[in-house]
Amino acid sequence: MKSEGLDGIEKFDSPGKGRGIRITKPFKVGELLFACPAFAYVLSVSERGYLCDFCFAKKEGLAKCGKCKKAFYCNAGCQKADWKLHKLECSSMCAYGDNWCPSETVRLVARILVSMKSNKDGERGASEKLLLMSDLEAHLDEMDNERREVNEMDVSPFTPASAPRHLLD
Ligand SMILES: [Zn+2]
Ligand SMILES: [Zn+2]
Repeated sequence: MKSEGLDGIEKFDSPGKGRGIRITKPFKVGELLFACPAFAYVLSVSERGYLCDFCFAKKEGLAKCGKCKKAFYCNAGCQKADWKLHKLECSSMCAYGDNWCPSETVRLVARILVSMKSNKDGERGASEKLLLMSDLEAHLDEMDNERREVNEMDVSPFTPASAPRHLLD
């Protein structure tokens, strides 16, 4: 997917309410204002093996990643396109074997971090035409204790005490 629209819309700050987008010219009903590819995404565990990990197409007989055997693709094209991000998970999936069970949230965060790292300085990706990922606010101080505990559990397999040494280097 390419970024579309953009012409005739702008970002603005509304004091006390946060950020928004607004139009700067008239649009007709049904006209596309803005579309862009996702910055990062991940297939949920429950859909694994039923949908392609890259394009989310539902298909019988998806092909497995030959290494980890836990990512599934329509074809070699989808596998190749996902490899930039999957290669990092793939080595962990292989190392942890059947103990591999991070939540989708953790996998998504990893994919976001890798995507942010691989974007060249000052260069906006197709999904950052309006807003840079680094411009988003964390809101960590507003997180309740229950959410904090769930997050800590999610992250614990990756902390130095429990992760295999080679995954940390
Ligand atoms: Zn696919
Ligand atoms: Zn793999």
